[in-house]
Amino acid sequence: MNAIAIDGPAASGKSTVGFLVGQSLGFLYFDTGVMYRAVAWAILDRGINSADSEAVGRVAEELPIGVSAPSDEEPDGRQATILIGELDVTWSIRSPEVDSIVSVVAANSQVRQALTQKQRLIGLEHGSGEAGVVMVGRDIGTVVLPEAPLKVYLEAPLEERARRRFIELSQRGNEANLAKVLEDLRRRDQIDSGRAVAPLRPAHNAHRIQTYGATIQVVVNQILALAEKVLGVGPTSTGNWSLP
Ligand code: C5P
Repeated sequence: MNAIAIDGPAASGKSTVGFLVGQSLGFLYFDTGVMYRAVAWAILDRGINSADSEAVGRVAEELPIGVSAPSDEEPDGRQATILIGELDVTWSIRSPEVDSIVSVVAANSQVRQALTQKQRLIGLEHGSGEAGVVMVGRDIGTVVLPEAPLKVYLEAPLEERARRRFIELSQRGNEANLAKVLEDLRRRDQIDSGRAVAPLRPAHNAHRIQTYGATIQVVVNQILALAEKVLGVGPTSTGNWSLP
C-alpha cells in the first residue's frame, strides 16, 4: 500500500510538508482538516449552535464538500480548491471564526463518523493504486488509515507554532494578535488531544519528527528518505496529483 499518514498538532507544518512530499512522489495529497473546517464554516453560515450536536452531525452527513486540484485561473497559493456545492470556500474556511469552533465541531462523534468514512475510502482507493496518497490530519495513522505503511508525526513547540500561524494569518491580510493566536492553538490542542473519539496522538509506530529549527526542505527530505526505505518509492519527474 502506497500511503503516507502525516499527523500532528495545528501549525506543526503538516500541510506544507505533506503537499511537497505528495508533489515530489506524484502522490495524491489530501488534507483532511479541510473537511472539518468546511463543516465548521457551514455551521456558522447557517447560524447553528456548535453545541447542538445533533444538528452539527446532520450537517456533516449531508454537506456536499468537494476537493479538487486548483485550476490555472486560481494562482493564489492554494493547495486545493474546496467547494461546498458550487461555492468556493477555500479561503473562508481558514478564517479566525472557523479556527475558534472547528475543534469543538471535530470532537462531535457523528461528525467524525461521517468524515472518517469518506476519508478512509479516499485513502484506500488512492493508497492501493500505483500513484499513492499522502493524507494529513490528526488521526490518520491511528484511525483513518491505521494500515498505512509509513506514519509520520510532526511536532513543534506551541510558541513556534503560534509564530508560524501568526505570520500566515498576517500574510493573508487577517488582523492577527500573537498572544491570541497562541491561546487559540493551546485551546485547540487541548480539545483535539482530550476528546473521547480519535484524539490527537502519535500512532505507536509513527516516526516522530521535530520541525522546530529545521527548514521545510530538511523535513521533506527526511520523509522522502523514509518513503524510499519503507515504500521503495522515490521522487518522480512527473510529480502531480489528481482529484480524489
Ligand atoms: O489541520 P487543521 O488545523 O486545518 O484542522 C482543523 C481542525 O480539524 C483541527 O483543529 C482538528 O480539530 C480537526 N481535525 C481532526 N482530525 C483530522 C483533521 C483535522 O480532528 N484528521
